[in-house]
Amino acid sequence: MYPNDSINSWFDGQGHWSDVPANKWNDWKWQLRNRLTTLDHLENFLDLTPEERKGALLADKKLALAITPYFFNLIDPNDPDDPIRRQVVPRVEETRTAPEELLDPVGEEGTSPVPGIVHRYPDRVLFLVTDRCAAYCRYCTRSRLVSNAQDYNFHPEYESGLRYIRSHPEIRDVLLSGGDPLLLSDQKLDHLLGELRKIPHVEFIRIGSRIPVFLPQRITPALADIFRKHGPIWMSIHVNHPNECTIALSAACEQLSFAGVPLGNQSVLLRGVNDDAETMRALLHRLLMMRVRPYYLYQCDLITGSAHLRVDPRKGIEIIRALRGHTTGYAIPQFVIDAPGGGGKVPINPDYIQEITDEAVIMRNFQGEEYRYPLISGAVGATPEVQPFHA
Ligand SMILES: *Cc1c(COP(=O)(O)O)cnc(C)c1O
Repeated sequence: MYPNDSINSWFDGQGHWSDVPANKWNDWKWQLRNRLTTLDHLENFLDLTPEERKGALLADKKLALAITPYFFNLIDPNDPDDPIRRQVVPRVEETRTAPEELLDPVGEEGTSPVPGIVHRYPDRVLFLVTDRCAAYCRYCTRSRLVSNAQDYNFHPEYESGLRYIRSHPEIRDVLLSGGDPLLLSDQKLDHLLGELRKIPHVEFIRIGSRIPVFLPQRITPALADIFRKHGPIWMSIHVNHPNECTIALSAACEQLSFAGVPLGNQSVLLRGVNDDAETMRALLHRLLMMRVRPYYLYQCDLITGSAHLRVDPRKGIEIIRALRGHTTGYAIPQFVIDAPGGGGKVPINPDYIQEITDEAVIMRNFQGEEYRYPLISGAVGATPEVQPFHA
């Protein structure tokens, strides 16, 4: 199905836009201006199902519809279950709310001291710098505020955010997110990163962005220079399916890597997209080939209207079990549930420990065989106390 895990066994041309001059196609601002944002737009290129047609009509009230021409081209128009399509084409199911679902599924509002800052963990903050993205994932954790379809009126206040970080010396790690931070102009990004770099206690700066995937044209030499100048800047991209691993994404990752940006990937486990071990393995292998280290695999948050995309977390555990030992350790992400209500990310792992006695750890390896690791003889019975780390 995914022969030899080669990058871009799929599609990298201009597709529906083959008459557009290459200089326009490769201009990120042209891509943004020409996004598909309405039902009419979509119907020019795709035979929509009734569920999708209704979804596109209702998207304005939930989470805006927007798909870049580049990303839209990755959809196979003959496959109603296409994994790219499932991520970005709205469906009427989004307007239904299951009892377990929440507007703020991971409890960000409760730990936001100033607008745009989420301070959940002691030593690091999430800094939301915009409510706009290049395209909108239908399972977005922040659909309450992103794209402003629900009149949230999110106004990022860089100065109050920066002031908060400056006045909290315990913050050593700042994660820029949104919306997508790479939608900011070069000038604004340069300024923001420069201000963060001036803060002596901020030792780690990272950006969460799906722009390399939705809009690889945004990764220009000028942008790479900004990251080089303020480096090390780390980046987590968001790829869910091997079909997203195009030559254009690969080139964007290469530019970022060569500018000294270590790359990680965050995927969301999604029904009909990547909820089987073979697809996941193909995705992870392609990421490694693009210098991207798989970081997290998320259980889909309980966002309102996401039931049709969510998967039983036991399936995720089985996928991780199918990978561990069977492929490169670097390829395997940490499967996590971001705990509803603001508990933070909790690692969810297959259980390899059979039993821990006073004498030994009894465990099973990746082939299910039992092994035994004897404990230090002198320490029998003395369980060492492990204290949580405090900065
Ligand atoms: C995910 C997240 C972070 C970063 O967590 P890491 O495990 O360090 O990647 C920080 N703050 C918030 C609020 C988050 O949701």
